[in-house]
Amino acid sequence: MPLSPEQQSEIDAQRAETRPTRRVVSEGMEGHLYTAYPVLDHGFVRVVDYMGDDAAITQAARVSYGKGTKSVQNDEGLIRYLMRHWHSTPFEMCEVKLHVKLPVFVARQWIRHRTANVNEYSARYSILDREFYIPAPEHLAAQSVVNNQGRGEALEGEEAERVLRYLRDDAMRAYDHYEEMIGQDGQQGLARELARMNLPANIYTQWYWKVDLHNLLHFLRLRADAHAQYEIRVYAEELCKIVADWVPFAYKAFEDYRMGGATLSSGALDCVRRMIKGEEVTQENSGMSKGEWREFEAALKG
Ligand SMILES: Cc1cc2nc3c(=O)[nH]c(=O)nc-3n(C[C@H](O)[C@H](O)[C@H](O)COP(=O)(O)OP(=O)(O)OC[C@H]3O[C@@H](n4cnc5c(N)ncnc54)[C@H](O)[C@@H]3O)c2cc1C
Repeated sequence: MPLSPEQQSEIDAQRAETRPTRRVVSEGMEGHLYTAYPVLDHGFVRVVDYMGDDAAITQAARVSYGKGTKSVQNDEGLIRYLMRHWHSTPFEMCEVKLHVKLPVFVARQWIRHRTANVNEYSARYSILDREFYIPAPEHLAAQSVVNNQGRGEALEGEEAERVLRYLRDDAMRAYDHYEEMIGQDGQQGLARELARMNLPANIYTQWYWKVDLHNLLHFLRLRADAHAQYEIRVYAEELCKIVADWVPFAYKAFEDYRMGGATLSSGALDCVRRMIKGEEVTQENSGMSKGEWREFEAALKG
């Protein structure tokens, strides 16, 4: 269970409080504020605070005094223009602060996104919970034979059972020793900052993560993508739903130009022009490598 009853009632109490404010409010985001959305077996993601909405992006782009909105269509058009032309700073005017609970091996991928502010739960100060990520059977995949960084079909039968047993048993044994090392009656107990080092990378950690919208979209572009590892992708996908409600125009533009769009090299663009003229273009006469051609074909076929 991602939240204990005490944690849930603390969140509910915070959610029940409302205050009048002069600040910009995104109705879509208000609906998400504080709610912990479950991810994986013990994780979650929840919005703790946010700043700005779609209008904050256009307001900054126009450097306007007030709301700066001429019309809703104008705002959407401007946001699409900004996204299309990589005019990114207006998107940095919106910010979000998240509370994320995630396995340590996912946190290692997440933390590579340097353009955010992070504060992680201290395992020097506090005792970690006995919570480990154990993949659901359908996500217990074999090593891909075509991609060293990917997965193949799910393991089955006796092999799947054995792997799951190892994952559970190893985690429990490591945690038993962790508990034993930090405190046994009548013993001094090893420092928490040392005892934690025998815990496996599937143990859960938590952090507050604050990021602006531009860098959040960059994170989502990379981590909600099919090439990202499943365990981080599910967090990114949950965040995509939240962002879609927070800044609907910006999210739509992001879907069109970044997630659903493709960047073509000058050579690839030249091939498209030749194809439109009716020429038969193949990998051999395209000037592209096999890998480039594969990706080019995939982008065209969709
Ligand atoms: C599918 C996938 C596979 C990956 N595999 C590996 C791997 O095998 N090994 C590995 O180590 N990493 C790997 N990564 C991580 C990847 O290389 C990036 O570190 C990560 O995606 C963060 O991207 P970023 O640097 O653009 O983001 P951020 O750190 O958020 O930075 C955003 C942008 O800010 C700028 N920026 C930030 N900091 C600096 C700086 N110090 N100097 C200059 N510009 C800066 C850059 O323009 C950058 O694009 C992988 C990522 C993905 C999505």
